[in-house]
Amino acid sequence: MDKIESIGYHISEIMKVLNLDLTDPNLRDTPRRFAKMYLEIFQGLEVKNEPDITVFPNEDGFDSMVAMTDITFYSMCAHHLLPFWGRAHVAYIPTDKIVGLSKLARMVEYYARRPQIQERMTQQIAEYLEKELSPLGAMVVVDARHLCMEMRGVEKPGTWTTTSAVRGAFQKRDAREEFLELMIRKREA
Ligand SMILES: [Zn+2]
Repeated sequence: MDKIESIGYHISEIMKVLNLDLTDPNLRDTPRRFAKMYLEIFQGLEVKNEPDITVFPNEDGFDSMVAMTDITFYSMCAHHLLPFWGRAHVAYIPTDKIVGLSKLARMVEYYARRPQIQERMTQQIAEYLEKELSPLGAMVVVDARHLCMEMRGVEKPGTWTTTSAVRGAFQKRDAREEFLELMIRKREA
């Protein structure tokens, strides 16, 4: 049985437990749709989907912060398999390597597309930057809303959770503040 068939079978069993009528035209193909959707939103579980990060030599000796803010992402919380989504902000200070900007966004996507917890995703992105670029410093801030907090449980719609991972030079206050100020300026613009 391939993955689509297998996931489809199991979700149809859950639907039966819930007394859903699987002959209803709106539900008939739901198991298959669900299975395809799961494979799509969990693409980050396949190591082969790890983005190929093109790294360039830092020929001009650029030694300041490179930051990309407001990278939107969608993920699923590992505890409830409900969506959490928001924006990731990524910064690093290069040494001898710089990275194509689109790759920063792809990297966020890769770590988001799996059952995930926000704290871990934040760290994984920072660790990836460290591993690939050996930067002077790296910092990642993630702002997200969690449906498991909003539509169930404590039911607090509209709350945002912020996590950050700080590496190397960003442990110094000046570098950290430069990044945070830039994030705030962007938000006000
Ligand atoms: Zn949750």
